[in-house]
Amino acid sequence: MIEELMNYGSVEEHASLKGLNTYRIGGTARYLLSPNSINDLISTLKILRENNIKYFVLGNGSNVVLNDREYDGAVIRLNKLNGIEIHPDMEMAYAEAGAMLPKLAMDSVNASLMGLEFAAGIPGTVGGSIVGNAGAYNACILDYVSSVTVLDENLNVKVIEHEDIEYSYRTSSFKTSTKYIILAAKFFLKMGDKDNSLEMIENRRVRRLETQPLEYPSAGSVFRNPEGDFAGRLIESCNLKGYKIGGAEVSNKHANFIINKDNATSKDVYELIRYVHDTVKNKTNVDLVIEQEFIDWE
Ligand SMILES: Cc1cc2nc3c(=O)[nH]c(=O)nc-3n(C[C@H](O)[C@H](O)[C@H](O)COP(=O)(O)OP(=O)(O)OC[C@H]3O[C@@H](n4cnc5c(N)ncnc54)[C@H](O)[C@@H]3O)c2cc1C
Repeated sequence: MIEELMNYGSVEEHASLKGLNTYRIGGTARYLLSPNSINDLISTLKILRENNIKYFVLGNGSNVVLNDREYDGAVIRLNKLNGIEIHPDMEMAYAEAGAMLPKLAMDSVNASLMGLEFAAGIPGTVGGSIVGNAGAYNACILDYVSSVTVLDENLNVKVIEHEDIEYSYRTSSFKTSTKYIILAAKFFLKMGDKDNSLEMIENRRVRRLETQPLEYPSAGSVFRNPEGDFAGRLIESCNLKGYKIGGAEVSNKHANFIINKDNATSKDVYELIRYVHDTVKNKTNVDLVIEQEFIDWE
């Protein structure tokens, strides 16, 4: 099977996932696959299905909590599907799922197309960001997506138009139903003032450096903000800033960030998230909803 898979992209066995997620935690993948093209992805999936091997797609690993043990299946990365096309004349951009969102945002702005400035500091892929409807500063990616090209459960390529996508704060129909693999998306943008957009991005970059613990590995905000409140404020009100389990710590800079302070294991991060959730629930009666995704924890 391995030889067959190698016809369609790179294949590694028992590959470490530590360098492939922004917490820098996790064990290994039985198979780590990186198909060369959409057709090669389809061939890869057919082989995995024939051999009853489970799989999931990993983007930039910036919104997931992986397990310490080996994932007994295939982790598929779409890092070779990373093309970006910018069309100022049509006020649109096109990006493949493995393209990095900050690169798409900067390429658009450099062509004087406005809309994705909010995304310049979100370290995800286009695919992963559409799944979780990534956003910031009251904007979110699905507001700017005109259509998404996916692979459906029968391995057919399908285009889903904006009006057929359900989404709200940090979630989408792609997250609630995992039957699609996102391949690419089109974005509707507007011609604007490039210098204004660049200045806005720079101001926000400086603000993020001041307010977020970007010097440590993390996966951004752990919990969604509850309606009318902030998860960080609630966590801080429970005196949890600086609370540690093993090498994982609730950031002193931003309480809604858990950082890998000192060689944290996945279990450290997992247990700290649960501890913070339960403490906030007991003390404030607010049931925080986790934004990050636990992969393979059952
Ligand atoms: C420092 C820092 C700051 C952050 N700031 C923000 C912020 O301001 N706003 C925000 O919303 N988020 C933020 N995040 C979180 C994160 O960057 C986003 O959620 C990002 O969009 C996740 O994309 P990803 O490619 O890393 O997805 P991953 O974490 O790799 O995957 C997330 C989910 O999407 C699935 N997936 C990935 N690609 C595909 C695909 N092609 N098809 C189908 N499913 C797929 C995965 O299986 C998984 O279920 C931040 C993270 C960090 C580390």
